[in-house]
Amino acid sequence: MKSAWRASFPTDPLWNLRTREIAFGMLNSSHKILRDAGLFFRAENWSLPSVRQMCDKMRLIATWAVEQQMPHDLAAWAAEDWQDYLDHHALTSGTSTLANDVLTIRRLLDFAPLLTGGGLSEDPWPGKSAAEVAERTYTGELSTPSIPPAIWWPLLRAAWFYIDDMAPQILERRDQQAAAVAASAGIRHQTHRARDIDVKLAAWVQDPASLVPVHARDFRGYPAGTVMWSTLSLWLTGGVSQGVFKTGRDSGRHQMRRRMVQQLADAGRVRPVTAKEGRAALGVVDQPVRGRNRRPDDLDAQVKKWLADPANRIPVRRESSVHGPAGEPVWLTLESRVFGTVTRANVFTSGTARTRQRQQWVREAITEDRTDYIEDGDLEHALRMVRAACYVFIAALTLMRDSELQEIERNSIVEHYGSPAIASRKVKHDESRPRLKWWITEPVAQAVAVAERLSWHDSHIFATLAPPSGFLPEGTRGRAGFDAFRDIDFFIENINKTLDRTGLEPIPEGLVRPHMFRKTMAIITAQQPDGEIALGIQLKHAARRALANRVTGGYGRMDANWSKEFDNQLELAAARRLVELLKARRQGDPVAVGPGAARLHAGLDKVIKAMDSDPHLQAQIADERMQVSLLRDEFAQLHFGTINHCLWQASTAECQNQLPPEQRGKQPLLGACQPGKCRNSVLTLENAPYWIAEEGDLQDTLRRERLSPPRRESIEIRLTEVQSVTAQFANLQGAH
Ligand code: SF4
Repeated sequence: MKSAWRASFPTDPLWNLRTREIAFGMLNSSHKILRDAGLFFRAENWSLPSVRQMCDKMRLIATWAVEQQMPHDLAAWAAEDWQDYLDHHALTSGTSTLANDVLTIRRLLDFAPLLTGGGLSEDPWPGKSAAEVAERTYTGELSTPSIPPAIWWPLLRAAWFYIDDMAPQILERRDQQAAAVAASAGIRHQTHRARDIDVKLAAWVQDPASLVPVHARDFRGYPAGTVMWSTLSLWLTGGVSQGVFKTGRDSGRHQMRRRMVQQLADAGRVRPVTAKEGRAALGVVDQPVRGRNRRPDDLDAQVKKWLADPANRIPVRRESSVHGPAGEPVWLTLESRVFGTVTRANVFTSGTARTRQRQQWVREAITEDRTDYIEDGDLEHALRMVRAACYVFIAALTLMRDSELQEIERNSIVEHYGSPAIASRKVKHDESRPRLKWWITEPVAQAVAVAERLSWHDSHIFATLAPPSGFLPEGTRGRAGFDAFRDIDFFIENINKTLDRTGLEPIPEGLVRPHMFRKTMAIITAQQPDGEIALGIQLKHAARRALANRVTGGYGRMDANWSKEFDNQLELAAARRLVELLKARRQGDPVAVGPGAARLHAGLDKVIKAMDSDPHLQAQIADERMQVSLLRDEFAQLHFGTINHCLWQASTAECQNQLPPEQRGKQPLLGACQPGKCRNSVLTLENAPYWIAEEGDLQDTLRRERLSPPRRESIEIRLTEVQSVTAQFANLQGAH
């Protein structure tokens, strides 16, 4: 019998299989296979229409997923990806449709144990009903909070301070320490390469040209003819060890080596050398020249030579600590800079008259411009501050998600349409995901470079701080990624602890989490001219803009934290434009015309009087910031426009008459402005070009066109109005 019931499945094979599996699960909700998989539903839990609707929804999700090149593995999708899908669908759907989308997505979680290849690993909207998620998505009020301006600006300034000022010396210390560790490990490593030494010794013994060095004469208790074991050992180990044949060591290997050499000596293949010429005779390479192996006069000369070069910077302790007082040179760091080594020779610190003399030379050479301030304290702590600073700075200025930031790899700075950009992926190690690009500025590139230098990891720039463990597999250096939120808290806490030393502003208390950076920058960017377009591109909402701009607009929508900040910025910008008017007014000139001109003049005169009557303010008259601040207080409600400016006062606002009574009195309605009539309206020379142009247009129209009498009359009335304004501008112009 032919059924009237039909369901359409996605065409993509993987999504098709998933959908069929869920459909069969829904249609057989109490089947043993489900129960065996740990899924317990009521019998006949879902109706046929529900199953059909699920299939339809899955088709839409599948189409979107294929278009967006989403990973096949659903567990690799982030909650944001599902929200992105809903946002996309919200452009063409209402809340009830969206709620059904949420239910369908949750089927991928409900039936996860049943699905081939697995389903969702967690709910993208935990604790929220489908209706709530749909409503929130539909209204565009994505719930990510922003970082308040009071935290945002000091946090960014602190991050930049760490990237630009602190990172170079912290990383230098890290590199010195790493080199010291590597050097000692290298020596041990070479010493313990016993097999290599054995191979080299065997080859040497078999070489017919080899002659065993023996003492040519008695030397310090060694009779002439004794093998020079330590010299031979140094030769075999490239100058690293004298102990390859060490007597007294009960190792079979050592005894075997001695026997091999001794047999050669017993066979008469010897070369008598004096102790003095011993090493040189064998061509032994001495250990690297270190401070401690050199003559004091040479060391003095080297110190003086280094100090004589003004490009060399002297490391100085930034603050007093158990290691020494503030302003004191950091001697061991200095030693490594002067001699280019990391081994300790106490060239400045052995307490002899000579080392005190060297210290004196250094102190005399210290000047502010050749001082490198060095911090004591835990190096790992300092490195963590640098990592946090880089993360904060890049997150704030690129609008990248946490998952995208953590995936930034080495050499990720690329050129994108002629401008520098960072390339990254959204999902860990998923090569199937496209590499996206975010435009960046020069300081962000610097932050990326610092993070890259900081990272031990082979490929990723954000990784564990510890040096790679010897137990990790070849080619694996540390673990990529870190808990950004912990580092952010750590960073803020430590910035606030060290304000005295750094001179930074305190960062007020408040929650700062990785996803909040993106939201905050979106708000700021959206306020700039064409900001919404730029925002859409950086947020990767660009494709959706082709349909509508609700998502980007919603994301960049100002919240309570920032509206006050922008009001302040607007007031400041307005006040700056008033400074020129204030200067002209100081000469006693009229600076504005229009019904509100007297009020504007009175306000400017008040500011001038306040400045002139206060000697303290008078002293700062050249300081524009002071004038801006006074003007901002006086003209907090001034709105600049192209045709006129509005001194906004609700009780006398003509434009409000156009509004329903309950909406009046909130803000100027510039579209309904009556510049020549409203008592809030003022016109300055800035507005003149528009009026003069309109006057010309009206005159042209009257001259050239054949007009109906009513039309002509209305244009003539308008021309009279406009001319009354332009005539006033003429007065203003004449006055200047
Ligand atoms: S009519 Fe124009 S000047 Fe008057 S309050 Fe409205 S916007 Fe301001």
